[in-house]
Amino acid sequence: SPVLVAKDLSVTYKNGHTALSDFTLDVRPGEVVALLGHSGSGKSTLMKAVTGLAPATATQLSVDGTDIPGANAATLRAVRASTGYVFQHFNLVPQLSALTNVLTGGLHSAGPLSRAGLFSRAQREQALALLARVGLADKASARADSLSGGQQQRVAIARALMQGPSLVLADEPVASLDPRLAGSVLSLLRKIAHEDGIPVIVSLHVVDLARRYADRFVALDAGRITHAGPVASLTEDM
Ligand code: ADP
Ligand code: ADP
Repeated sequence: SPVLVAKDLSVTYKNGHTALSDFTLDVRPGEVVALLGHSGSGKSTLMKAVTGLAPATATQLSVDGTDIPGANAATLRAVRASTGYVFQHFNLVPQLSALTNVLTGGLHSAGPLSRAGLFSRAQREQALALLARVGLADKASARADSLSGGQQQRVAIARALMQGPSLVLADEPVASLDPRLAGSVLSLLRKIAHEDGIPVIVSLHVVDLARRYADRFVALDAGRITHAGPVASLTEDM
């Protein structure tokens, strides 16, 4: 069954601007879905609507069976805690180690001791295993700001996985990276989807990257879906 169900999803911001109109998409375990579209086409708005951060109306909008429109604050907190978010600018704490940055990904679900900075041995071991998974076992104690952009983004992905997410939302995760590093980040997201079954929605503005690393695509223009399908059907003008 799908992890994300969006049916006739629309978002109109307070200023009256409609950023997304009648957006329909199901995302199943193990899929990488690329969101394509120019700046301002509604890609970030979709990701925010999924976690209740944008004002959504829909026939249905649910994550892992939880309805988002009308959900109370506690329910939205739980949905955000089970959604891994990866940003364009990584959003690591620069002066903290890679390991500590990964550990903070578990804070949503952690108890008061963890919030005070005392992580359990099990949490540390899990964070170290995730750093190994993203190819950074040897960088656990390196400060985040000493790492390359591609390495920082892989730490950010490990941090998202520390949440034990049922869905990963990656908002332009490679827009700040050169093409070689972009490939290392996107192949990692693909591995997470295909090996762990965690679906990934990734916004991209390079069609060729979608073709290489995603399974399906949805192209947006001014908040509306213009094309969608398997990436094999992508053409340059989408
Ligand atoms: P993308 O991620 O594709 O660049 P966005 O989802 O950020 O697009 O934005 C879609 C449209 O919604 C743009 O026209 C943007 O200016 C507008 N928008 C985004 N956030 C807000 C907001 N909080 N209030 C009003 N308009 C917004
Ligand atoms: P970047 O510029 O690196 O894309 P920002 O720091 O500007 O990232 O954040 C992008 C937006 O994502 C912010 O407006 C923030 O409110 C939103 N955001 C933060 N956490 C989440 C989340 N869990 N789900 C969806 N959106 C989020």
